[in-house]
Amino acid sequence: MHNIIIFGAPGSGKGTYSAALVERFGYSHISTGDVLRAEIQAGSQLGRIAAGYIEQGMLIPDDLMIDILASVYDSMRGGKGVIFDGFPRTIVQAGALKRILAERGEKVSVALNLIVSEDVLMQRLLGRALSEGRTDDNEETIRKRFTVYDTQTRPLVEWFRNEGVLAEFTFRGDKDRMIDEIIERVENL
Ligand code: ATP
Ligand code: MG
Repeated sequence: MHNIIIFGAPGSGKGTYSAALVERFGYSHISTGDVLRAEIQAGSQLGRIAAGYIEQGMLIPDDLMIDILASVYDSMRGGKGVIFDGFPRTIVQAGALKRILAERGEKVSVALNLIVSEDVLMQRLLGRALSEGRTDDNEETIRKRFTVYDTQTRPLVEWFRNEGVLAEFTFRGDKDRMIDEIIERVENL
């Protein structure tokens, strides 16, 4: 089974490229952001906890997120593979994922880092604010999410480099080209 991590700053296109990989290779897709938004929508207790953090542009506590991830992952095992979109986002989560996979005889196949300039990210997120109306897509919260990304998530680049699974992709204005590059990398797994 392939275990593919896709990570990058808010608005870097994790969902878009995940969808392209799902279409091409038939993987299952875990988006922790989507899982949390569904819980908020459903009005669950988890949703109520998550909403407070998301609206502030902060991360949900690691222990909570790790439990959710493990149970969603177990519901998706047995297929061709899983794309982790939005997880891990901290070094603690990365260590937990390694353990969760190892306990099941699995490991990370590749970690795809999406590199996009901050100007482009801001434009995209403000554009998405108009179309999707997410509570965290306003300029102030977006800036907060960039800071959270820089301090808590960016250290994963070195983590995955040390694990020998890092693959980096820089957006140069052409989404289809980026999709082709990512697909080529995953084809070679
Ligand atoms: P995009 O989906 O546009 O690439 P994003 O990173 O802003 O960007 P989501 O992945 O949908 O969006 O996450 C939205 C919010 O959900 C985060 O800001 C955070 O509050 C919460 N969240 C999602 N995944 C995690 C995680 N692994 N750990 C902690 N919080 C998370
Ligand atoms: Mg997303």
